[in-house]
Amino acid sequence: MSTYLGIDWGGTYIKAGVIDSKGKILAKKVYSSSKLREKEFFISEIVSLLASFKKYKVKAIGIGAPGIINIEKGFIYYLPNILGWKKFPLKKSLEKKVKIPVSVDNDANVFALAEARLGAGKNLSRAIFLTLGTGLGSSVIFDQQILRRKTSALELGHFPISLKKNRCGCGNYGCIETFVGNSYLVKRYNKLVKKERSERSERSPERPTGERSRTIKGVEGVKDIYQRGLKGEKNAICIWKEFSFYLGRFLAGMVNIFNPQAIILGGGVSGAYKLFRPYLISVIKEQAMWPNLEGLKLRKAKLKNAGIIGAGLLAKESLVVRKD
Ligand SMILES: [Zn+2]
Repeated sequence: MSTYLGIDWGGTYIKAGVIDSKGKILAKKVYSSSKLREKEFFISEIVSLLASFKKYKVKAIGIGAPGIINIEKGFIYYLPNILGWKKFPLKKSLEKKVKIPVSVDNDANVFALAEARLGAGKNLSRAIFLTLGTGLGSSVIFDQQILRRKTSALELGHFPISLKKNRCGCGNYGCIETFVGNSYLVKRYNKLVKKERSERSERSPERPTGERSRTIKGVEGVKDIYQRGLKGEKNAICIWKEFSFYLGRFLAGMVNIFNPQAIILGGGVSGAYKLFRPYLISVIKEQAMWPNLEGLKLRKAKLKNAGIIGAGLLAKESLVVRKD
């Protein structure tokens, strides 16, 4: 039985797993360290990981990395959130040490590969995959293959959607990513809450402090905005409506371009799927051209370890490509 090592690398954490050729995880290790941002340390960790999985006789390694990558060469152009990884030949450097084939791809592509083969996108020939988290990762499956360019992912997250001066990590402003990322949502929610508090105190300045302290407080994470939205709290609902407005308009454009059978949403922010789904559907319906909406499905990602499984499948499928 052939096995593959899949590495989901988030900069400061590694989620690694050995998978079989059907994508089943046989063994798994998860750990975090800020030292994983350093090249030498990262490479030596992969070498020891492989050694610890020796009994599985791993055939190839796949890595999903958070950045812009040349997949043919396994060359990292840069990782926006990890300094020091500019123009680095990861595949070449690692293959020298491990002596088995290594493949590197963008993490959103790896996620899409897993969901397309085994999860919410199974048996679909055209689908859009988004990872909603700190940023907006994206990948498109067309004819069951990941649509690639030289720089690995399609980077739909940097599609300019607004003239508002929301600064983006890419150096530009107004990208869709800056309206749906988790830190933006938290900041925006806390701003709404602050506004409501000051309006209330202006209306009734004589209110006793005890009563005022019972007013609504800010949040630290998107999960809280979801929980409050479930209870019907108006600022939280407003956030999910705004989120759906931006994401829906963006997706309507993507639907008109790619005419997908499904849009599949993963990542931390998709935890609020139940709440924003109806708003998002109505914006997409309103904005997209109607023939493109026929049969279109909106789905939440299914797999628990899509990053590991997808990276393992990347290793496996890269071997098949090499044989041709
Ligand atoms: Zn951008």
